[in-house]
Amino acid sequence: MIRRIAVLTSGGDAPGMNAALRTCIRAGLYNGKEMYVIYDGYKGLVKGNIHQVNKDFTADIINRGGTIIRSARLPEFKEPEVVKQAVQRLQDYEIDALIGIGGDGTYRGLLDLAKAGFPVVGIPGTIDNDVASTDETIGFATALNTICECVDKIKDTSGSHQRCSIIEVMGRHCGDLAMYSGLAEGAEAVISSDHPLKEDSLFRKLRKMKAQNKSHAILIVSENLIDINELAKRIEAETGFDTRTEVLGRLQRGGTPVAHDRILASRMGTKAISLLLEGNHNQVVCLRNNEIIGVPIEEALSMKREPKENLIKMIDMLQ
Ligand code: ADP
Repeated sequence: MIRRIAVLTSGGDAPGMNAALRTCIRAGLYNGKEMYVIYDGYKGLVKGNIHQVNKDFTADIINRGGTIIRSARLPEFKEPEVVKQAVQRLQDYEIDALIGIGGDGTYRGLLDLAKAGFPVVGIPGTIDNDVASTDETIGFATALNTICECVDKIKDTSGSHQRCSIIEVMGRHCGDLAMYSGLAEGAEAVISSDHPLKEDSLFRKLRKMKAQNKSHAILIVSENLIDINELAKRIEAETGFDTRTEVLGRLQRGGTPVAHDRILASRMGTKAISLLLEGNHNQVVCLRNNEIIGVPIEEALSMKREPKENLIKMIDMLQ
C-alpha cells in the first residue's frame, strides 16, 4: 500500500513543471497520501534533501516558470552504488513511491530505481519535445510562444534594415521547436534534423527576394546542427543580403507557462497519482491522440522519434 509519495524535477527546467508538481501534491493529498518534495533532482535525492509538504506549499505556483524545487544533473546516477544510496534515502523517509518530472534522461534514472525494486512514475517535462513516448511534453507550448514573441520582435528590426536574420532555437537534437516556430512565423526557411539545409535552393530563394526588394528574410535553425555564423557569411557572399545571427538561448526556458502547459501538467499530474494508486507502477505518463495514458518505462525508452512527415510537407508547401 502506498502511503507516502515524493516528487522531484530533473534535467532541463521547463515552464509548467511547477504546475505538474502542484497537481501531484494536491491529487496525492486529496487521496489521503503524505506528500514529499525532493530538491535538486537526483542529486538532492542522494543527499537526502527531502521534505514533507502540505497544500500551502503549492499555493501560487501554477503560473510560475522554472521549478521551485530546482533541477540538477547527476551523471553518477548511472552507477548502481549511487542508485542503491538513493533507494536507501527513500526508505529512510519511509517513502513508498517516487514521481520524476523530466525527459528521457530522468526516465533512465527512474528505470534504474524501478529495477532496484522502488516504485516510480515519470511525467514528461522539457521544452524540447524530444520524448518519443508522448505527443507533447510539458513546457513545449510555452517555449514555442516565447520563440514566436522573440522572432516577431526580430522581424521588426530586420524589416527596418532589409536584413536576413538567422535565429537559432533550442531542441537539443529534436527539431520540433524549430519546425513549429518556423510554421507559426511563416519563416523563409527552417533547418532542423528532419528538414536539412538545402543551400542551393535557399540561396536562389534569397537572391530572388533581394531582387524583389523584400523587407526581410527569417531563417530558423535548430541548435547543435550547423554553424550559423558560417551560414550568415555564405548568405552575404551568395545573395547580397545583409545577414545577422541571433541565438535565443536560455530565455526559451523561462517565463510564465501558457494555459495549455498548465492544463497538460494538471492532466498528467493527476494521471501519475492515479497510476501509482492503481498499482500501475514503473510507467511514464504520455499524451497520445489527446488522451493521457500510462506506458511502461522500458517501452517508452525504446521508442524512437519519427520524422513528422505531414509537418515537413506543410512547411515545404508554405515557405
Ligand atoms: P532529461 O531528463 O531532460 O533528458 P538529462 O539527460 O540531463 O535530462 O538527465 C537528467 C538526469 O537524469 C541526469 O543528470 C542523471 O542524473 C539522470 N540520468 C540521465 N541518464 C541516465 C542513465 N542512463 N541512467 C541513470 N540516470 C540517468
